[in-house]
Amino acid sequence: MASPDTLKIPAELLPRDGRFGAGPSKVRTEQLTALLADGTTYMGTSHRQATVKNKVKEVQDGLRALFNLPDGYEVLLGNGGSTCFWDAATFHLVLNHSQHLVFGEFSSKFAEAVTQAPHLSDPQVIKSDVGTHPLAVTTDGVDLYALTHNETSTGVMMPITRPAGSKGLVVVDATSAAGGLMVDPSQFDVYYFAPQKSFAADGGLWLAICSPAAIERIEQISASGRWTPAFFDLKIALDNSRLNQTYNTPALATIHMLASQVKWFNDNGGLSFSAGRSRTSAEILYTWAEASSFATPFVTNPAERSNVVGTIDFTDDIDASVIAKVLRANGIVDTDPYRKLGRNQLRISMFPAIDSEDVAALCASINWIVGNL
Ligand SMILES: *Cc1c(COP(=O)(O)O)cnc(C)c1O
Repeated sequence: MASPDTLKIPAELLPRDGRFGAGPSKVRTEQLTALLADGTTYMGTSHRQATVKNKVKEVQDGLRALFNLPDGYEVLLGNGGSTCFWDAATFHLVLNHSQHLVFGEFSSKFAEAVTQAPHLSDPQVIKSDVGTHPLAVTTDGVDLYALTHNETSTGVMMPITRPAGSKGLVVVDATSAAGGLMVDPSQFDVYYFAPQKSFAADGGLWLAICSPAAIERIEQISASGRWTPAFFDLKIALDNSRLNQTYNTPALATIHMLASQVKWFNDNGGLSFSAGRSRTSAEILYTWAEASSFATPFVTNPAERSNVVGTIDFTDDIDASVIAKVLRANGIVDTDPYRKLGRNQLRISMFPAIDSEDVAALCASINWIVGNL
């Protein structure tokens, strides 16, 4: 048996770009070039002045166009990434009782934050096995439904629809989905995400598209006098976002790269373009795995297989971690599975920045490794 350390994948099989991590995503060279071009006039300047504020506005207006937002929807942003937004939502979106669909690591976190919160009642948690997703159940007394558009840890996507006849806000973790999956804004009240996944920028920021009902909820909790640490106060975030600012200093490069990606999506046809790129990549990946004698898609229901993050199981005679190691030694990085899932698996991101031809090349490279181990 060949030693994994010395296996050299033939150059003609290799993807042109070897970044397949589920976050941070591959950043396109054009985004980096654009940042460099604006380097001395944008980087290192005040986030309270027009240069940066106009860039924030460009992001907000660009997202409005990308998601075709109805009147009254607003784009909020703040520091701390999606993880911070769970705490902000715990303080400032749940009135008293929330329902959470839990089907993997990320979707469990918001439920956990609410469970720990002394000012809220215990949430209603609806779970399903990893590799599947549960459905929301319209329930009296639930004032917030917490959905996850794409569960990044397992590679499961779910459609975003309002639970029939529900009165609660529909609050969607779209961290890895936004920009890479289609969505109808009339079906959510809050669609929150971070820029380091489908938007191919860097981490550390959260963005939340809010419906008029969500903004009303923010105003209502603010007026109620509930104590909220300023960092998690969505009224402060709302007021700052309306001025194209964040409460405290943001990472300027993140905003610039995000603006470039949103513009690239919009210039090429919008969400159908960006989500279409991910869909094409996903077709390539799952078609390959289904035809393979040693690989299978982990998610059994084809409709639930994510277009942005693919999880592929390997037969017992092949050690997926060895494949990931050989890939890494050949410049193809971050295909390792989600740590806590503990499966003999590779996880391959197919965010819009990733070229579908590179996904095909990755499949060919894996075939070559298995044939030469
Ligand atoms: C990556 C991810 C998060 C965490 O995002 P951070 O910006 O790192 O806090 C949350 N939810 C989902 C679905 C994710 O994919």
